[in-house]
Amino acid sequence: MKKIIILLVTIFLLCGCSDKEVQSYISNDDGLISINYPVTNINVLDDAISSYVNQTYHNFKNMKSTNVPELNISYTYKELNSDIVNVSLQTEIVTDKVINKIKTFTYNKSNNKFLTMEDLVEDLNGLDYEIKKELLIKYQDADMDYLSNVSYDYFTIDDENLTLYFNPAEIKSKHKELIYLDIPLDSLKLLIDIDKNEGKDTYLSIKKRNVSLDDKVIALTFDDGPSKYTNDILNVLKKYNACGTFFLIGNKVDFYKDTLRRMLEEGSEIGNHSYDHKLLTRLSKEEFQDEINNTQEAIKKITGFTPTLFRPTYGGYTNTLKSYTDLKFVLWDVDSLDWKVKSKTKILKNVLPNVKSGSIILMHDNHRYALDALEDIVTNLKSDGYKFVTVSELLELKNLRESE
Ligand code: ZN
Repeated sequence: MKKIIILLVTIFLLCGCSDKEVQSYISNDDGLISINYPVTNINVLDDAISSYVNQTYHNFKNMKSTNVPELNISYTYKELNSDIVNVSLQTEIVTDKVINKIKTFTYNKSNNKFLTMEDLVEDLNGLDYEIKKELLIKYQDADMDYLSNVSYDYFTIDDENLTLYFNPAEIKSKHKELIYLDIPLDSLKLLIDIDKNEGKDTYLSIKKRNVSLDDKVIALTFDDGPSKYTNDILNVLKKYNACGTFFLIGNKVDFYKDTLRRMLEEGSEIGNHSYDHKLLTRLSKEEFQDEINNTQEAIKKITGFTPTLFRPTYGGYTNTLKSYTDLKFVLWDVDSLDWKVKSKTKILKNVLPNVKSGSIILMHDNHRYALDALEDIVTNLKSDGYKFVTVSELLELKNLRESE
């Protein structure tokens, strides 16, 4: 009996920690849409998150725009301690105007309650004056009269700061970006304990393959991951001794640390696909560099590996954007359109007849369609004599061939 209980407890623990995932929907069919949000497996919290996302998506769909409309929802997720989770959903909507908003949730699993700032910080009233003073210093166009009504509904907490968010209308500022204030945790009296993240150092590099100049080579690339499908994609690649280059979205990587390490351990490459998957050509230089650098840091923290390749979101970029980074921009010449055609037969038709030596094939690992077709793609190309290489290896070979 004891053994059975221990076994059950073990299974429960294993399930409990491994089945968090990121729900991801990315499309450029009818406007540019990138939605990524966490599924925490805390039912009440997940219901609140998904109903907020659905509502936001629905509102976006009803908006009129003469520009290409864009909806971007990204998230932060932080386990404050073993009971309390803090999630933020940041939304940017671009139509003829730009709307930025944030929604945050703080949930205590042990008593099934959503927490407010009053539950977290002692003497919030005493802090009120200080917070408003800081807001006025940071946002000089804010209206003092309006400040008396600000609420502390939206906040995130990381290892260093409590960050408060305000809607521009709330403080009557003309700022279009999110309005926020960082308050160092050491300056607060907190009513809960916060576990600090212990960073684990791992240093992985890509395994090199032996390829000669005469080989027919192909690079498989996967965008918009990682996701719950990525491990199955790695299984197929491993089975056929193939590899891929995974262009990852920075805000998702923390949920799939083992998958990232596995990519490198098994000879695949990791590239950068921005942090929030926004249309880059609409960003300022600083915003663009943040998208790149935050992703570089997130990947490096988990693997020790620093990507050298960048794939622009929606394939959109300018030479000016290229000049803002040292990363090499990588596009593709064969598009599987997996996210759009959603059919194995159609994916194979989009890929196999169009491949030549040196091709870079575009697929996506945030849904199962690429996975459905992958085994057939790999076996067909293998029997046609192709060798699979990473994008870096492909570019290296191209350079060598050109210098011959
Ligand atoms: Zn993408």
